[in-house]
Amino acid sequence: MINKIIDKTLKLKYEDLVKKDSLLPIKVSNFYRKKIEEEVQTIGICGPLYKSVIPTKDKIEVKTSIETRDYVEENNHMPVKNVDYIIRKYNNRLVFIITDICFAHCQYCFRTYNLSKYQAGNTKKTIVEKITTLKNYLKNNKEIKEVIFSGGDPLSIGYENLEYALKSLKKWDIRIHTRAIIYEPSIFTNKIISLLKEYNVRLVFHINHPYEICEQVQDKIKKICKAGIRMYSQFPLLRGINDNSLVLIKLLEIMDNLHIRPLSIFIPDPISYSACFRLSFKRIIKIIDEVNFSTPSWINSTRFTMDTTIGKVRRENIVKWIGNCITFSRDNKEVKYYDLDEGIDTPTQIKTLLWKENY
Ligand code: SF4
Repeated sequence: MINKIIDKTLKLKYEDLVKKDSLLPIKVSNFYRKKIEEEVQTIGICGPLYKSVIPTKDKIEVKTSIETRDYVEENNHMPVKNVDYIIRKYNNRLVFIITDICFAHCQYCFRTYNLSKYQAGNTKKTIVEKITTLKNYLKNNKEIKEVIFSGGDPLSIGYENLEYALKSLKKWDIRIHTRAIIYEPSIFTNKIISLLKEYNVRLVFHINHPYEICEQVQDKIKKICKAGIRMYSQFPLLRGINDNSLVLIKLLEIMDNLHIRPLSIFIPDPISYSACFRLSFKRIIKIIDEVNFSTPSWINSTRFTMDTTIGKVRRENIVKWIGNCITFSRDNKEVKYYDLDEGIDTPTQIKTLLWKENY
């Protein structure tokens, strides 16, 4: 079916890059594909949901002068020798890459390189081994209070593995970052919801666009909410997907109505093959101001933030800005961020981003 909505030559070129340059293969869930088909039928292949999971010509061809494979340098924050699934940047919490499998592959994924490299899968053996290693590390690092399940999508590991993981780690606060709610909402069965409730999990949804929240997704979110599970949101600011304050405000309003607490909107990392998703920093600041100055605090309390190798930084952490190079500082450490080259960032028209409304 995907063949119908992607140019054959472009697909071949992309598949070649998957092999040569470790990009993630195209993967789209049936649930999400139906939404893309509706979008394509109405506005063609320029829409926000299409661009989220299908490679475009710009994804392959647009480059900016400074890009890197792994801007946040996760490899430098792996405290256990030869273990690439425990990432620790903070004193009291760590990230646990419980799986490298996702329900669909996001074209802008900042972990593209690492995910395509690991591909260890979701077997019980892999999960048990990973948890044993993690528990040994936690035993010797008692200051860690929270384990953040990330991936991949932690909810792709299935009920049995998830139950095992949550039971094994019940002494720690567990946070799960997931995009399953919009790619495969059917996985939120009553059984999974009860399990998440039983272990008092915090669920952090990654939802980028208002049209990802259809009625079916809303129904699931309401069930999760009714069960008393704490829900939050975190998502990236992406050109062609949500690069307009009106889209962000609409999304935050919808999520607020569904009792999802907003945490952060991420400024995308300057990674390879991401130039078509990035915004110039000047435009990022303009969007932040538009959101801040036109909304009540339950919307504008959302932080615009960027993950770096020294931890999360925000606009107020900028200490130097010379040409394309912006320096951020925190905890007496500095990190450089390289802005997009001039002329790359063309704002997406609101009538494309919110094509269902009358703009
Ligand atoms: S679901 Fe998350 S980990 Fe998986 S491809 Fe998308 S952004 Fe990357």
